[in-house]
Order: sequence, then C-alpha cells, then structure tokens
Amino acid sequence: MSDKIPIGISACLLGENVRFDGGHKRFGFAVDQLAPYVRFEPICPEMAIGLPTPRPALRLVKAGEGTAMRYSNDASVDVTDAMQRWSAERVASLGHLCGYIVCAKSPSCGMERVRVYSPTGKDARKSGVGLYTAELMKRYPWLPVEEDGRLHDPMLRENFVERVFALYELNALW
Ligand code: SF4
Repeated sequence: MSDKIPIGISACLLGENVRFDGGHKRFGFAVDQLAPYVRFEPICPEMAIGLPTPRPALRLVKAGEGTAMRYSNDASVDVTDAMQRWSAERVASLGHLCGYIVCAKSPSCGMERVRVYSPTGKDARKSGVGLYTAELMKRYPWLPVEEDGRLHDPMLRENFVERVFALYELNALW
C-alpha cells in the first residue's frame, strides 16, 4: 500500500478561505498532524453549488416533515434543492474515501447538533445535520466521519484514526 490514505474534509478546515465571511477554520490536527499520512480531498459544498465568498450565512429551517436550507437574512432564497441534488451526485463518487472530517455546526457540513430554526426564525433547536453530510452518511454508513470539534477529544481522535486505518486496510484487500 503505497498511496496515502484518502480522507475527505471540509475545505475551510484546511485553511481555505471559503467560508461565508471570507475566512477559514484551519484545523491544526488535520493540517499539522494528519496531513503527512493522508491525502486530503477538500470540498466546500456551498461554493460547489455556485455560492460566492463572502456570502450571506445559510441556516437550516424546519419545513414540513423535512429541513430546508435558506439564507438567514432572506428566507426567500432557498438552496435546498440545489444542495441536495449536488450532494447526491458528489457523494456518489466518494466510495474510495477511508474517512471524513467535517466542520461542526455548519448547515452544510455539520455532523450533528446543527441549529434548525422554526419557520418564523425565532427559535432554534440543535437537532440537525448539515445537508451535505447527511447525504454522505446516508450513502456510506460505515465511513468514519468526525467533526473538528469532537476531534479535540483524545479518545475520539484515537477512535477515528483507528477506524480510518481499518477501512483503509479493508479497501486494500479488494
Ligand atoms: Fe464550506 Fe462546509 Fe466550510 Fe461551510 S463548513 S465553508 S460549506 S466547507
């Protein structure tokens, strides 16, 4: 096995200036410690569906039985369909990945406890999953996925790395 381990990652965590405010969320563990051993495949779903940087912040909003994605400053701008369609297409090509590190709290990339606002925008519950990551986890339930925030915990970090290596070794057998 000579190739480096392929791991998907939210592009902002690698220090790319793709966030809504034009900044990034460089994640030292990934950039400084994991990078020598893995091949990161950075993706920013919001830029991938054609949104600019900077841009208005997006939020998840309860819509019927489901969740919609809208601009937080203008609920008439709804990118739910665009994000879900692109996500389904994109994740279909990611079967080779051995792990994924996503940016916490993001309505696109968050893995858990993402704020979901009521239709009036007055209340929010930390009950959502980012639309892109929801598609990723639905398609590959065995894929080790973790958030930057959770990987500050040494136990969760070790567990994630072990699962990534196990999947890498399993994939190499095929
Ligand atoms: Fe892009 Fe995801 Fe980072 Fe938001 S959290 S800037 S959508 S990569």
